[in-house]
Amino acid sequence: MREPGFETICEHAAEEPARFLGAVAPPLFQNSLFASPDAETFARRGAAHPEVYDYTRVANPTTDILEAKLALLEKTEAARCFGSGMAAVTAAILHCVRAGDHVVAVNTIYGPTRHFLTSYLSQFNVEVTFVRGTDAQEFADACRPNTKLFYLESPSTFVFHLQDLAAVSAIARERNVVTAIDNSWASPYFQNPVEFGIDLVIHSATKYLGGHSDIVAGVVCGPKAHMTELASLEGALLGGILDPFAAWLMLRGLRTLPVRMDRHQANALRIAEFLQGHRKIAAVHYPGLDSHPQRDLARRQMRGSSGLLSIELKEGGQAAAYAFINRLRYFHIACSWGGYESLAIAIPFPAVKNGEPAVGGGWGARLHIGLETVEDLMEDLEQALE
Ligand SMILES: *Cc1c(COP(=O)(O)O)cnc(C)c1O
Repeated sequence: MREPGFETICEHAAEEPARFLGAVAPPLFQNSLFASPDAETFARRGAAHPEVYDYTRVANPTTDILEAKLALLEKTEAARCFGSGMAAVTAAILHCVRAGDHVVAVNTIYGPTRHFLTSYLSQFNVEVTFVRGTDAQEFADACRPNTKLFYLESPSTFVFHLQDLAAVSAIARERNVVTAIDNSWASPYFQNPVEFGIDLVIHSATKYLGGHSDIVAGVVCGPKAHMTELASLEGALLGGILDPFAAWLMLRGLRTLPVRMDRHQANALRIAEFLQGHRKIAAVHYPGLDSHPQRDLARRQMRGSSGLLSIELKEGGQAAAYAFINRLRYFHIACSWGGYESLAIAIPFPAVKNGEPAVGGGWGARLHIGLETVEDLMEDLEQALE
């Protein structure tokens, strides 16, 4: 029999209705405690006996189903969910570094991740070198004897720079450096970084994995060699667990992940092509476009493109960008993304600290293309640009 495909994993993997009175949708275990039938069973609880549940900070059956599913979707041995994407990001980084270590990170990563690396970890004498990351050699050049982690985000989510995952992970392996990537933009549906040798895969599950703008969640996926310790230390000990109800909602969100991603891609591609030809637009940054400077790399390591892109306006600066955003009718003005709905925010270029102006150094917008009727979105964008 063939290995179950992505969609089949979303609908069936790790679910055993017979364990739960035949319930087709796995039940929500909204309880903190599990009572043992006798003192002997209670004494047996712990990592060696995952069948003995005792406390939801350590393990919960609803969350266990979700984590098993996410590990399969990312083609890793294990996954651990967290109460937010940032809890997952910081857990993965803390797992990899000790006082005095050095990290090489991509300069266009998510802002709070950058803040954690620079401001928080500096308290522990952890140093960070930021690289553009579009040339893998930059990682080798930035390495020091105490480098322990390469932190990637490919594509990044304002200017959509990619890193060559196979080349960067080869450089890391030669030097015994762990690689971690924020894979939120592509989702496991479009990109499985472990296929290119990456060790730890992180998601803000608030975005596509949840998909409905109703949970805040995160996950780290990786090999047991990392995940067993990460789950017990950065997971259970630091305690930033995912609430079981949010885990249950993410299981529901995952049912439709493949069909949602296909539609996000189809809508975003049509809109990116439409905007690219518009006389008021200077540039469209979207890895799904043939004009993307790293299009070949995008094709090599991703199976498709999601719904988040950015545009630069030709003229008018901040006032024109604000006016454009304010005129949109179907796009909420909001910064998170990955849900069913379209979103827009005005952004300056460069959109990231230390980032170089992609085109003119002016203003534009970041757009999340949702699941609405694409003609409605196109008409809305057209009238707002005029
Ligand atoms: C939103 C986001 C995060 C943080 O996730 P939260 O769930 O908000 O904590 C991390 N990385 C990227 C790329 C994001 O967009």
